[in-house]
Amino acid sequence: MTARIAVVTGASRGIGFEICRQLARLGINVVLTARDPGRGNKAVATLQPQGLNVIFHALDVADPEQIHALADYLARTHGRCDILVNNAGILIDKRGAGVLELQVETLRATLETNFYAPLQMSQALVPLMRKHRYGRIVNLSSGLGQLESMGDGTPAYRASKAALNALTLMLAAATKGSGILVNSMCPGWVRTDMGGASATRSVEKGAETAVWLATLPDNGPTGGFFRDRKAIAW
Ligand code: NAP
Repeated sequence: MTARIAVVTGASRGIGFEICRQLARLGINVVLTARDPGRGNKAVATLQPQGLNVIFHALDVADPEQIHALADYLARTHGRCDILVNNAGILIDKRGAGVLELQVETLRATLETNFYAPLQMSQALVPLMRKHRYGRIVNLSSGLGQLESMGDGTPAYRASKAALNALTLMLAAATKGSGILVNSMCPGWVRTDMGGASATRSVEKGAETAVWLATLPDNGPTGGFFRDRKAIAW
């Protein structure tokens, strides 16, 4: 069987980098993408000597032209894209600012990366998945986007992840029965630049459920929200 091709966004550091490592260890060909070519190439250079099949492709997810360039590159060179992990994310809410203080500019910029980008990545890559009747899309969401426990604090981030979860359900409906499985996951509170040093989880643990969803069997779930491989409330 031809090796699967996976694309991971925002993968020069943090959970995205670890997802690349874990996918490549499973024998998957990984396209590690990052907006900064210096950081992206450096990340790839730490994985390739471990015998892992990982290559770099520049991608600022907030730039639709770069998204289309990546889709063209995949179509030309591999003719396929089997796995898309929408990992790139930002949390730029002002400390202490709740929804009543939220500046629309903050929301707009957050949605650009955390919502418009996964939408446009999916629009660009689902046609390549449909070609082979196989696809796995994993959206890195957050418990902060759960409607069942929605609160104040980091409002732009929360809204972006709630919107991302809605996108997961829409994409799952749009691709039902086509061999494409689309799911959201929460990695837990992970020690990365975003999570901070006091977070309770390692990046290895944070990446685990995303990798599980990226490699689901054909009869696996679609349109779900998971943490630690278990379904959680929206
Ligand atoms: P991180 O350490 O802050 O890393 C974020 C990554 O996203 C970086 O590689 C960053 O690239 C990239 N990125 C941001 N904007 C981008 C853009 N426009 N184009 C391409 N890449 C971009 O975050 P993390 O903790 O690994 O988080 C990964 C995902 O998990 C995010 O979606 C986050 O919301 C979610 N999550 C994290 C936690 C947690 O506790 N850490 C909890 C729940 C959910 P640069 O290096 O270029 O900035």
